[in-house]
Amino acid sequence: VAKGRGRNCFEFYRHRMRSDADARLKLSGRLRKAIEGGKLHLNFQPQVDMRTGEVRGLEALVRWRDDDHGMMNPADFVAVAEASGLVSQLGEWVLRAACEQAAAWRELQAKPIPISVNVSPLQLLRADIVTTFQRVIQETGMDPTLLELEVTETALMKNPEASARRLVEFRRLGVRVAIDDFGMGYSSLGQLRALPVDRIKIDRAFVRGIGEGDSGAIATAVVTLANAFELSVIAEGVETLAQRAFLIDLGCVEAQGFLFSKPLDADAATRLLLQGAVLQLPQGVEHGRGK
Ligand code: C2E
Ligand code: MG
Ligand code: MG
Ligand code: MG
Repeated sequence: VAKGRGRNCFEFYRHRMRSDADARLKLSGRLRKAIEGGKLHLNFQPQVDMRTGEVRGLEALVRWRDDDHGMMNPADFVAVAEASGLVSQLGEWVLRAACEQAAAWRELQAKPIPISVNVSPLQLLRADIVTTFQRVIQETGMDPTLLELEVTETALMKNPEASARRLVEFRRLGVRVAIDDFGMGYSSLGQLRALPVDRIKIDRAFVRGIGEGDSGAIATAVVTLANAFELSVIAEGVETLAQRAFLIDLGCVEAQGFLFSKPLDADAATRLLLQGAVLQLPQGVEHGRGK
C-alpha cells in the first residue's frame, strides 16, 4: 500500500512540476507578446519631501494588464522575464518608456524631475546593459543626470565586485544609483563603502512597524549608515503620520508611500507636474517643522 501511495505521490508531484513548467512557459510567451505588442505601461510614484510635499523624483513602475488575466504582479513577471531570457527586452522597454515620458514632459515644459528606473539582478550583470542605457539616453534626448537606477541590496550582494564595476560605468554616464530595499541584504560596512552609490532606500519592511511597537531601530541604523557614508536616504512604504514624524525626526526627509501618493498613471503624473509638483500633505498633527 505504502509503495503504491509513494508512486502516486511521485506521479502527482511530477505532474505538478510539469504543469508549473508549462504555466511558466505560457506566461513567458504572453509576456514576450505583451512587450512586443505595446501592452505594458508605466506608473510613476512620487518621491516627496515629507516636510513640504514637494515632489523630488518619480519612480517608474512597470504595469502589465493582460487581456485574459487582468493586472499582473510586476514582482512576478519580472521574475519570469529573468528566468526566460526576456530581462533585457523588458528592461530596455521600461527604460525607453521612462525616457520618452520625460521627453513628453519636457515638451510640455513641466519642471524637470528625476526619474528612477528599477534594474533587475540579471539585467544589471548583462554585458550590454551600459551601452543599451547609453543608446536609449541618446535616442530619447534624456538628461542622464535626471536618471536614477535602482538595484536591490540583495542583487548587489550576490555579486559585489562585478556589480560595483557596472555601477562605476553607469555613474560615468552621469546616471545616479540607489540601493533598493535596503536593510534586508546584510551587506557588510566594508562592502557598502566600496559600492559606488548615491543613495539608499530603506526597505518598506523596516518602516511598516514604526509607531506600532517597532522601535524603528533598523530604520535608525540605516539613516546613521547613510549619514556616515554621505549618501542620501529615502524611506519606502510610508503609510502613517507616525512613521512620517519618526523619520523626519531621524533626519530622513524623503519618502515614497501611500500616505502621500500611490503610483500614478501617466496622465495623473502629468497633471501633478503641470500643477507645480507639490503634493497636498496629509492632515494630522504637524510635526518636524520649525518650532
Ligand atoms: P520596489 O522597486 O521596491 O517598488 C516599490 C513597491 O512598493 C511598488 O510596488 C509600490 O507600489 C509599493 N509601494 C509604494 N509605497 C507603498 C506603501 O506605502 N505601501 C505599500 N504596501 N506598498 C507601497 P509594485 O509596483 O507592485 O512593484 C513591486 C516590485 O516589482 C518593485 O519593488 C520592483 O522590485 C519590481 N518592479 C516594478 N517595476 C519594475 C520595473 O520596471 N523593472 C524591474 N526590474 N522591476 C520592477
Ligand atoms: Mg524600486
Ligand atoms: Mg523598494
Ligand atoms: Mg521591493
